[in-house]
Amino acid sequence: MITAHLPSGYILARATGCPRSVYPFALLGSVLPDFDMLWFHLVDMRAFHHHKYWVHAPGFWIMIAVATLIALKLFVAKHTRFPVITAACMFYGAIFVHLILDSLAGSIMWLWPFSDQLYVLVDVPSHYENWVLSFLLHWTFLAEIMVWSIAVFLYLGRKRESKINVR
Ligand SMILES: [Zn+2]
Repeated sequence: MITAHLPSGYILARATGCPRSVYPFALLGSVLPDFDMLWFHLVDMRAFHHHKYWVHAPGFWIMIAVATLIALKLFVAKHTRFPVITAACMFYGAIFVHLILDSLAGSIMWLWPFSDQLYVLVDVPSHYENWVLSFLLHWTFLAEIMVWSIAVFLYLGRKRESKINVR
């Protein structure tokens, strides 16, 4: 998925009905795995598929999420009124939505650390020299348009609701 990760985080936050104060955690989690593009372009000089980095491995995030949630529950949650457990769940939930969306036409190491095999639902053929064009003109890009449409619909609906509540 190329463009629809951020709106997927917004949809997740809206769908769960979480407090607005934790929306930033969902939005950050929805795009965080793709920060590996910096390393991919600037350090590794595109030598590896960036989905081979640990930030695109579900197994890595399961271990981090379990450790973080236990630590937050034991040491932080009782000392703050901020919903830290909810925020962490939204953050990791958005990361998993990112990895699921990437599995549609990208590829993800779903069995890591047991296997480095990348799994993809639909292979997008390279019809054009520019890989972005191949993705934009493939039918799987309709999924991105759908995610954007749902997010915009929800956002505009919320704005309409708040205008009604002000009156
Ligand atoms: Zn990604």
